[in-house]
Amino acid sequence: MTEPTKILLDESELPTHWYNIIPDLPAPPPPVLHPGTLEPVGPDDLMPLFPIDLILQEVSPESYIEIPEEIREIYRLWRPSPMYRARRLERELDTPARIYYKYEGVSPAGSHKPNTAVAQAYYNAKAGIRKLTTETGAGQWGSALALACQMFGLECEVWQVAASFDQKPYRGSMMRAWGATIHSSPSEVTNAGRAILEQDPDSPGSLGIAISEAVEVAATNADTNYSLGSVLNHVLLHQTVIGQEAAAQLAKVGETPDIIIGCTGGGSNFSGLSFPFIREKLAGNINPTIRAVEPAACPSITKGEYRYDFGDTIGMTPLIKMHTLGHSFVPDPIHAGGLRYHGMSPLVSHLCELGLMEAVAIGQVECFEAAIRFARSEGIIPAPEPTHAIAAAMREADLCRESGEEKVVLIALCGHGHFDMGAYDTFLAGELSDYEFPAEAMGEALEKVPVVG
Ligand SMILES: *Cc1c(COP(=O)(O)O)cnc(C)c1O
Repeated sequence: MTEPTKILLDESELPTHWYNIIPDLPAPPPPVLHPGTLEPVGPDDLMPLFPIDLILQEVSPESYIEIPEEIREIYRLWRPSPMYRARRLERELDTPARIYYKYEGVSPAGSHKPNTAVAQAYYNAKAGIRKLTTETGAGQWGSALALACQMFGLECEVWQVAASFDQKPYRGSMMRAWGATIHSSPSEVTNAGRAILEQDPDSPGSLGIAISEAVEVAATNADTNYSLGSVLNHVLLHQTVIGQEAAAQLAKVGETPDIIIGCTGGGSNFSGLSFPFIREKLAGNINPTIRAVEPAACPSITKGEYRYDFGDTIGMTPLIKMHTLGHSFVPDPIHAGGLRYHGMSPLVSHLCELGLMEAVAIGQVECFEAAIRFARSEGIIPAPEPTHAIAAAMREADLCRESGEEKVVLIALCGHGHFDMGAYDTFLAGELSDYEFPAEAMGEALEKVPVVG
């Protein structure tokens, strides 16, 4: 019998629950603090922005939370997602490692982001909310939320960082096709945007400014809520369908992972794949290495400090204990736009502190070299973000070639790169370069981080 290249699950094998790792951890993550009182935030602080179901999921003591049928019905449009054995890549690398990748680019928006966008739109619609606002950088999150809002009859208003708005017009086209309204940020439609434009009419924008605009509109309209595509516990929770499916798929071919690798921006696709395996690791059933990969230009876990900081650039959010480069740190414009966040999910940060996982940083040139080899052997053109996971897997495959070890490597291939071809053109023209991580800029940014306790 030939062993399968594509490992598929039946629709009936779609997970029925999301997995919440928090109750299984040896210590709970530190609380999120109110920036004024430095007391833990309560549900009342979050009610102006989020529906109660999501606030409760954020702090849930339950290990498994049932996925409502309305959400599963939409998940079934592309889930269970496929897992592939990267046979052609293994041959190309001449490695005895067995490499598997879980592919989330089959969603309508082309990434893992709809897994949480659909859930968030559902709970907001259920709470009687009429409109969701959000920010987007490269446009992956904005397009996922536009899709999800359309499915539940919600309006969607997106502020996209001006520089990306101009560079990636087709992400905007997708959002409009799904019925969303999109503004280049800073915009004229909010106080925050107008204030920035008054100082700098040509501002290229930033995620921090776009967050301020989206939050302002949500906070000042009772029928409008705000939605975030990464970082928060409930977002990571929704992504655990990825890892549960992956565990079932590996079991089908009788494999146990030795190493699990994902790229980290805010931590959601990495957590979605790895948390269900970490559960088994905590239970003593398996012992894989769990490795996050971040860009060398924005190395929050490997170079940042673990301390309380703001989630946004302007300093409007609660204080979150996380690995941070400082909320005012502006990373270099690498092509992996989704990995340019100054902090890390507090839950991923906590897992690092507990020693349950590790992290490495890789420069973008090595990542694009890896991506081209991947595209030319496996066919799929990866988004710039998961090229980091692919590069790390190739390092592992090289080590296996030298040692002769037959490791089972599992990677999160969290999206395709069809809207990021400009980055590939730059690489193929030999014009892509690495950025040196500016340690002094981080030092300056850390001076602006509040000192807590
Ligand atoms: C948004 C995005 C990321 C970064 O976010 P995480 O929360 O770290 O997953 C990575 N890859 C893709 C394809 C994205 O769209």
